Amino acid sequence: MASPILVPILGDQLTRDLASLRGRTKDDTVILMMEVWDEATYVKHHKQKIALVLSAMRHFAAELGQAGWQVDYVRLTDEDNAHSFTGEVARAVERHSPRAIHVVEAGEWRVQEAIEEWPDKFDCEIDIQPDDRFLCSKAEFNSWAEGRKTLRMEYFYREMRRKTGILVDDEGKPEGGEWNYDSENRKPPKDGLSAPQRPLFEPDDVTREVLDLVEEKFGDHFGNLEPFCWPVTRDQAEEAADAFFAERLPKFGDYQDAMVHGEDDLFHSMLSTSINVGLLDPVELCRRAEEEYNKGNAPLNAVEGFIRQLIGWREYVRGFYWRFMPGLESDNALNAQRSLPEFFWTGETDMRCLADSIRSTRANAHAHHIQRLMVLGNFALIAGISPRDVQDWYLAVYADAFEWVELPNVAAMVLYADGGKLASKPYAASGNYINKMSNYCADCAYSVSKKTGEGACPFNALYWRFMDRHRERLEANPRVGRIFSTWDRMGEDKQREYLDSAEAFLGTLTPANKGWARAG
Ligand SMILES: Cc1cc2nc3c(=O)[nH]c(=O)nc-3n(C[C@H](O)[C@H](O)[C@H](O)COP(=O)(O)OP(=O)(O)OC[C@H]3O[C@@H](n4cnc5c(N)ncnc54)[C@H](O)[C@@H]3O)c2cc1C
Ligand code: SF4
Repeated sequence: MASPILVPILGDQLTRDLASLRGRTKDDTVILMMEVWDEATYVKHHKQKIALVLSAMRHFAAELGQAGWQVDYVRLTDEDNAHSFTGEVARAVERHSPRAIHVVEAGEWRVQEAIEEWPDKFDCEIDIQPDDRFLCSKAEFNSWAEGRKTLRMEYFYREMRRKTGILVDDEGKPEGGEWNYDSENRKPPKDGLSAPQRPLFEPDDVTREVLDLVEEKFGDHFGNLEPFCWPVTRDQAEEAADAFFAERLPKFGDYQDAMVHGEDDLFHSMLSTSINVGLLDPVELCRRAEEEYNKGNAPLNAVEGFIRQLIGWREYVRGFYWRFMPGLESDNALNAQRSLPEFFWTGETDMRCLADSIRSTRANAHAHHIQRLMVLGNFALIAGISPRDVQDWYLAVYADAFEWVELPNVAAMVLYADGGKLASKPYAASGNYINKMSNYCADCAYSVSKKTGEGACPFNALYWRFMDRHRERLEANPRVGRIFSTWDRMGEDKQREYLDSAEAFLGTLTPANKGWARAG
């Protein structure tokens, strides 16, 4: 092939209709796919996450090959692998002498910065194309955000509903009269609540080979490698989506915020890994959910709740990430300095809610949203754990963690490290919230009703310590301010008990060895 177009496809761009492939001809294009050490190790990702991305890449390359594309695939173990995207593109330029490189912009800041250096490094035309798999472009988000005092997701979400027409009638009004049924997404779990088993995908030969490679090269990374049952092809991802729509969507709304010990998925879709690597299209999923509603198969609180996560939160955090990077990574508005406790990695804690959420994280490279937000995140917030430690942890341990979606959720939604650009108040809660929304507390070594002293639920004292420490900032906030009259009514002795209890508990925490998340 004389001087073709080189099309690098990254590990989260596994979409047949990717902008850089659209309109290209097979006899004039070389697709480059690269497994590089830098990406597998910039944090020490959960073993299942590395296996997921490598296996999905290999399957995608094989599909492209079968469809007649020329794919130049660089394996992690190839002898001359340069182990960085730029290094591998340089080698590919030598091999193919392309007349141009067409690449879709990267999802992560770090990788995009590297791509933006390519025009200076390579002697051919470089065309960096927008990632139009997102509904809202970076420019559109910025023009929505410009001049607003606060960037509440709710208003952004309404724009996305209007833009797509999803659950919006001909007069531009929301289906059912309300834009948001969040208040109907908070049923506590009833006794014995459990959800139908999601499809589990047996590793084929391609995945088996990847699992062996991951065990050999990344055996010291966090988490269990097997059982490995994530979808790794578009067909499998569609099967997983079909099962969700048929079996779990109807109850997704009611139990979106519920937690049950040992029930790792409940009614959640478990589709984030497939969406984030590009196997499923989020807007298509929303249209399918709407169809289920129109057919009378799922109630509005479930369908709207699901759609809100995808064209609301997911699009919003992506816009937010690009608007506030690179500063977002180092924001620390609450000046939280404590090291991450070791038990985040080992799961060894008597706090049953945390132990179960970490167990699921180790076993599945997944925990559902409310475990991430109100158990793990809430603990990190009220214990004052340093944002960098928490960010590294979340980025490493979840199979769906790519920085553009992980960082806004962790730094802004959970830790309030952005000072409130995203959330109207910190999501701080005492043990009461966890007790109401889960069955964790009944069998916990701690007593949720005990507020201070030996055996008291640590969330209770940590909550008041957090409020007290940040009083100056939070008191003026109409959504939080009133809580301080309760605090004041307690009187000094009671307050001292809370603060001493919190300090005594914090004194028992062993800081994590940094080597878990990043080498060196
Ligand atoms: C601290 C914290 C860290 C998180 N880190 C990630 C991450 O690294 N990657 C990631 O994809 N999601 C992240 N989330 C969002 C959410 O927890 C996961 O998307 C969800 O748990 C994935 O499971 P699911 O597919 O079953 O989701 P469901 O509950 O079925 O939701 C449907 C889909 O909506 C999207 N979604 C839901 N909530 C969010 C959100 N807050 N932000 C963006 N998209 C959302 C996801 O694509 C998800 O697949 C994080 C949330 C918190 C609070
Ligand atoms: S008592 Fe406290 S620590 Fe134990 S499960 Fe409940 S909230 Fe978690």
